[in-house]
Amino acid sequence: MEERTALDIAQQTTATGDMAAEDFRRYGHEIVDWMADYLAGVGNNYPVLSRTIPGEIRHALPNHPPEQPEAMEAILKDFDSILMPGITHWNSPGFMAYFGITGSGPGILGEMLCSALNVNAMLWRTSPAATELEQVTLDWLRQMMGLPHPLFGVINDTASSGVLYALVAAREAIPDLHIRQKGMAGRSDVPRLRLYTSQDAHSSVDKAAIVLGVGQEGLRKIGTDSEFRMNAVELERAIEEDIAAGWLPFAVVATVGTTSTSSIDPIPQIADVCEKYKLWLHVDGSYGGAAAVDPAMRWILAGCERADSLIVNPHKWLFTPLDCSVFYTRKPDVVKAAFSLIPEYLRNAESLGDEIPNLMDYGSALGRRFRSLKLWMVMRYFGQEGLATRIREHNHLAQELAHWVEESPNFEIMAPTPFSLVCLRAHPQGVDDEAQLEALNEHIMSQINAVGRFFLSHTRLYGRFTLRVAIGNLRTTERDIQDLWQDMQTRVAAEVRTVQAS
Ligand code: PLP
Repeated sequence: MEERTALDIAQQTTATGDMAAEDFRRYGHEIVDWMADYLAGVGNNYPVLSRTIPGEIRHALPNHPPEQPEAMEAILKDFDSILMPGITHWNSPGFMAYFGITGSGPGILGEMLCSALNVNAMLWRTSPAATELEQVTLDWLRQMMGLPHPLFGVINDTASSGVLYALVAAREAIPDLHIRQKGMAGRSDVPRLRLYTSQDAHSSVDKAAIVLGVGQEGLRKIGTDSEFRMNAVELERAIEEDIAAGWLPFAVVATVGTTSTSSIDPIPQIADVCEKYKLWLHVDGSYGGAAAVDPAMRWILAGCERADSLIVNPHKWLFTPLDCSVFYTRKPDVVKAAFSLIPEYLRNAESLGDEIPNLMDYGSALGRRFRSLKLWMVMRYFGQEGLATRIREHNHLAQELAHWVEESPNFEIMAPTPFSLVCLRAHPQGVDDEAQLEALNEHIMSQINAVGRFFLSHTRLYGRFTLRVAIGNLRTTERDIQDLWQDMQTRVAAEVRTVQAS
């Protein structure tokens, strides 16, 4: 690209200093062309896991801010040469770490429009379409997932914010304590509060307990069964024990699709316990919930109609770019009572009624991006059938890999595979020393990740180092899974030969 002089730039900028419309059009087209090429070639043109070393990007950038305007050509050149090497490609078909995600075409275009409009949907009047589209889109998603009406939904940045909001509402729902008003510290009339989740729940629940002021001791972790599902009998026993010891139980967080293994807690039994002890039930379906879009998978949400709140992240497995986390509740009045606070400068006629929500009333964030736009575009572009087909395919690929693993003498499955996550480890015949198996699996994972075609992450199950193959990107094909499996087998065979030779 040709460098432009400062004078050229001055001629092109408007009186405001912003980019002239024609330049915006030109660079916009150039960037969209770049994006189209990037998305088409991401699997072949880049290592999935960035190979940069810590501090490398930082040191390649100037320490001081630019004093004079710079040409877009120079900015884009640095984007390419300095920043791109520091990108780990979540868009790659070989990205199978954590939980796979996808910035799909319609989702990315929706995000671009969101950015261009740059509205803040804090109040209905600050962009009626943003508030109303959010309500409509989330009702569509509710229907797609087979959840009963009515269910109020709002979009937050992350599930971590959502679980915190749910627990603030749960705390506010405790009769007579008025914690929002009076706080908790120094009060003799507030017993120590306790909430419950399984030992396999996401760490966002622990963080919520910290922020909420109940402390990490205020979160009791319940054991799981052989399939990593919360033990509802142990839950009830823990609640009884805590009540006898003077604690005040107030909420349970159950999970549909845990992070380590994608296990599904027994929601109907947990809901029974919550109803018996009048506890708020929050269901974390951040990853797994999306699968209910496939009617054949609806069973995973059995009992969720009894939950007080539920989260599903379209930015995980519904092909919507980060960030987009849907928070549903059957008790919007309680959430609103916990959060609504209207200073004079935000007061307006619409603040007075409940018919039209002001989205700022359902969480601690005032500003809200127009996130429903990208979700709406994804839902319309794919349709329920299109979304369900992709999810079904991911689940099918996972089943296939799990089957190969089960058949192999050198590998073993470490957890059931209800969704598209396969937990496995290399366990060659005759090698039973746990330390040796751990070293072998760690070694295989780091070798695979170093090549650049695939990126895997791990967890620990019953103390055993376990590889996670998380399938969730639109671009991942059967060929990718076959190649990964071939790669794993070859590496294990080579390791076994080395051990035998030594
Ligand atoms: N819950 C589960 C089950 C998760 O797997 C994750 C992240 O992977 C989260 C919550 C946190 O999601 P977020 O990044 O949206 O806060």
